[in-house]
Amino acid sequence: MNITVEPQKKIVIIGAGISGLTTAYLLNKLGYNVTVLEKKKEPGGSIETVVEKGFLFDKGPNSALETHPLIGQLVEELGLEDEFVYANKEGNKRYILKNNELHQLPMSPPAFIKTKLFTPAAKFRLMAEPFIGRSKDGYYQSISEFVKRRLGKEFLDYAINPFVAGVYAGNPEDLSVKSAFPKLYELEEKYGGLMIGTLRSIRERKMRAEKSKQSAKMLSFKNGMQVLPKAIANHLGEKVKLLCDVSSIEKIGNRYKIYYNHLEQKETIDCDTILSTVPAYVAADLFRNFDETLSKHLLDIYYPPVLVFYIVYKKSGIGQPLDGFGFLIPSIERKSFLGAIWSSVIFPNRSDENNAAFTLFIGGARDPEVGGVDKEILISKVRKEFEQIMRISGDPVLVTYRYWPKAIPQYNIGYVEHERYFDEFEKNNPGIILSGNYRGGISVGDCIKNAESVVEKCRV
Ligand SMILES: Cc1cc2nc3c(=O)[nH]c(=O)nc-3n(C[C@H](O)[C@H](O)[C@H](O)COP(=O)(O)OP(=O)(O)OC[C@H]3O[C@@H](n4cnc5c(N)ncnc54)[C@H](O)[C@@H]3O)c2cc1C
Repeated sequence: MNITVEPQKKIVIIGAGISGLTTAYLLNKLGYNVTVLEKKKEPGGSIETVVEKGFLFDKGPNSALETHPLIGQLVEELGLEDEFVYANKEGNKRYILKNNELHQLPMSPPAFIKTKLFTPAAKFRLMAEPFIGRSKDGYYQSISEFVKRRLGKEFLDYAINPFVAGVYAGNPEDLSVKSAFPKLYELEEKYGGLMIGTLRSIRERKMRAEKSKQSAKMLSFKNGMQVLPKAIANHLGEKVKLLCDVSSIEKIGNRYKIYYNHLEQKETIDCDTILSTVPAYVAADLFRNFDETLSKHLLDIYYPPVLVFYIVYKKSGIGQPLDGFGFLIPSIERKSFLGAIWSSVIFPNRSDENNAAFTLFIGGARDPEVGGVDKEILISKVRKEFEQIMRISGDPVLVTYRYWPKAIPQYNIGYVEHERYFDEFEKNNPGIILSGNYRGGISVGDCIKNAESVVEKCRV
C-alpha cells in the first residue's frame, strides 16, 4: 500500500469513546492535526465509572482483555502503571447455573470429564468434533447452528448460549458465526475443525505476539475503567471538545464542514478527513445526505437494551463461596437476568473487607422487553432470584443501576452485507471513515486494536 504522510491534514473524529480516543491518540503522535468532538460532558462513551457510597461501579465494561500489545503501550505512555490492575487469580473460575445450582465451567480435560454441567452423552458428542466436516452454509450460519453441528445441542445450551449472553448480551440464533466469532469461523474454514485449529493457531498467534481471548489477561484500573479514556483525553487536552453534539455534515469541494451544537451555540469545523466513531444508528443520521442506502445498512444493526444492576451485600450474609468471576445463566434456565459478575472478587478494591459487590446484567437480545418494564419492579424480581442462587440473607448495603437503551451492536446474520457496503461507501467517499464498535469487534480490546488499522485509513 502507498501511504502519503500528510501531517498537515485536518482530521475530525466524532465520538470520544475508546475507539475515537485511541485513534486520536495515535494520529496525534504521528503529528496529525486532530480534533475530537464528543456529545457528552465526559470522555469514555460506553465506559462510565462512578463511585456511590464509597463503592466503585463500572456502568459499562467492568474489565478488558489484554489481547493486543497496544493496550500495554497506552498504559505505559500515559503513565498509568500505578493505576493498572490485573484481575485477581480467583476470578479465573467461572460458573454456569443449571437446575438452580452453580457449576464450575471445566477448564481442563480432567475437570471436563468430572463435571456435572454436561451429561455423559454431551461429553461423548464433543469428542466427535474433529470428525465433522465444514458447513456449506458459509457466511449465513448463526453461532447456534454452527455449535449445534460441531459440538452438539447441550454444549450450545450450557456453554455457548450463556457465553454469548455474557459477551454480546446476544442471541445465539441471530448472531452470525462469521461476523461475531470470526476466529471460531476461521478455525473451521482454515483448519477444518475447532480442536485441530485451536492447536495450530496458538502457534501462529505466538509468532504475531497476539493473545487469544481465552489466554489474554483481564485488566482494569484501580479507579475503574474510565481511567483509560480520561487519561487519553487529558493527554490530548483541548483537542478533545466535550459537549459538542454533531448534527450534520456537508461536503464542500474535497473538504467537509461539520455542524455541531456546543452549549446551545451552533458551531462548525472544517476538515479533510472525518472519522465517525458514533454508534451505527447515529451515523445513519449524520451520513443520510451522502448515501441513503448506507443509512439503511447502519439502521439495520440491532442494539438491544441492557440494564446493568449493581448491588453490594455484607459478606457475612452470603452463603455461596466467593471464589470466581461470577456466573452466567443459560436461557433454558428461565431466569430474569443474564448473569452476575462478582466484581469485588475480580478487583478487590471494588469494596471493603466486610462487603462484596456484584454487577448483574438484565435484558439484552434475549430479553429486549426490559426497555418497557418498570425498572424498580424488575430489579426487585432479579434481586430475589440472585439472593436465592447466592444464598444471601439480609438487605443490601447499596442498590443502583444504569439502563442502556441501546447497549451493544449485534453482528447478526447478514452483517457481512453491511460490512461490504461500509467498505464500498468509504471507497466512494474519500475522506470519510466509519469506525466504532459496530465494525471489527465490540470489546474494548478490539476497539483499541482496530484503532491501528483506522489510523492507516486516515493517512491514505
Ligand atoms: C453495559 C455494557 C457492558 C460492556 N461490557 C464490556 C466488557 O466487560 N468488556 C469489554 O471489552 N467490552 C464491554 N462492552 C463493550 C465496550 O464497552 C464497547 O463496545 C466500547 O466501549 C465501545 O467504544 P466505542 O468508542 O466504539 O463506542 P462508544 O463508547 O459508544 O462511543 C461513541 C461516542 O460517540 C458519542 N456520540 C454519539 N453521538 C454523537 C454526536 N452526535 N456527536 C458527538 N458525539 C456523539 C457518544 O457520546 C460516545 O461517547 C460493554 C458495553 C456495554 C454497553
